[in-house]
Amino acid sequence: MIKAKKSLGQNFLIDSNVITKILNTVNIFDQSILEIGPGTGNLTQKILKKNPKKIIVIEKDDKLALLLKKNFGSKIEIINKDVLKVNEKLLHNERLIVFGNLPYNISTEILCKWILNIKNQNFWFSHLILMFQKEVADRIIALPDSKNYGRLSIISNWKLYIKKICDVKPSSFSPKPKIDSTILYFEPKQNFFKLNNSKSLEKITRIFFNHRRKMIKKPYNLLFNKNLEIAKKLNINLNLRPQNLDFETYFKLADELEKLSC
Ligand code: SAH
Repeated sequence: MIKAKKSLGQNFLIDSNVITKILNTVNIFDQSILEIGPGTGNLTQKILKKNPKKIIVIEKDDKLALLLKKNFGSKIEIINKDVLKVNEKLLHNERLIVFGNLPYNISTEILCKWILNIKNQNFWFSHLILMFQKEVADRIIALPDSKNYGRLSIISNWKLYIKKICDVKPSSFSPKPKIDSTILYFEPKQNFFKLNNSKSLEKITRIFFNHRRKMIKKPYNLLFNKNLEIAKKLNINLNLRPQNLDFETYFKLADELEKLSC
C-alpha cells in the first residue's frame, strides 16, 4: 500500500466516472501522450487501454516511479524528475496530448511556464487536459468584467483556447483533498497576438492588477510616463478598473510597452 505524500500533493483519483470523462475529451488511439504526476497509474492504465502510439510519464516521487516501472514495464517511458525541471520541447518529436492531475501547489507555475515558453507557434503539445484546484480554474477561465478575471485569465487566453470539462468533488480522490477541483481542456491558438517578449504582458498585468479596485489611471501613468496618446489610440478610459479591460487591450498595451523600451 502506498502512503500518500502531502508534500507532493498526492491525492489519487479513484473515481472511474471522472477518469472516463478525462479520457473522453480527446482521441487517444495512435497519439503520443504525456502524463504529469501519474502517481499509482490509475489514469495511465486506462490510457494504455486506448492504444496510444506512445506514453511518456513524468513522476517526481522515486517510490512511485519504481512502482510504475514494476506495473507497466516497457509499455511506458518513465521520467523520474521534477516536471518543472524538464524541457518539454525535447521530450518527443511529435505534438503531445498532455494529461495531468497536477499537484495543486505547482499547477499555476507549470501552466504559466508552458505558455510563456512557447515561441512563434511552436507548440510541443496539441491538447492539455489538466486538473486544478477549482478556485484556480475559475481564475483561468474568467472573462472580463468578472471578479475572478486577472493575470491568470489574460496569460492563459493569450495562447490557448480554454474549455471547462467538469468540477470534481473531494470524494473522487484518496486521500480526500479539502477543496473542490476542476478539469480544464486547452488547445493552442494558431494565431495568437505577437509580442516580442512575454515579460511585457506579465509586467502590464502585474502592475495593473496590483490594485484591483482602483482606477487604472495610476498604474497606466507609472508604466507609460503619463503619455496619454497611447490610451487615446487604444480607446482606453483611464477611470475604469483593471477587470474592465478585455484580453486584446492587455495584449495591445504590452505591445506598446515593448515599443517604448526599444
Ligand atoms: N495522477 C494521479 C496522481 C495525482 S497526485 C492520479 O490521479 O491518481 C499528484 C502526482 O504528482 C503525484 O504522483 C506526485 O508524486 C506527483 N508530483 C508532485 N510534484 C511533482 C513534480 N514537481 N513533478 C512531477 N510529479 C510530481
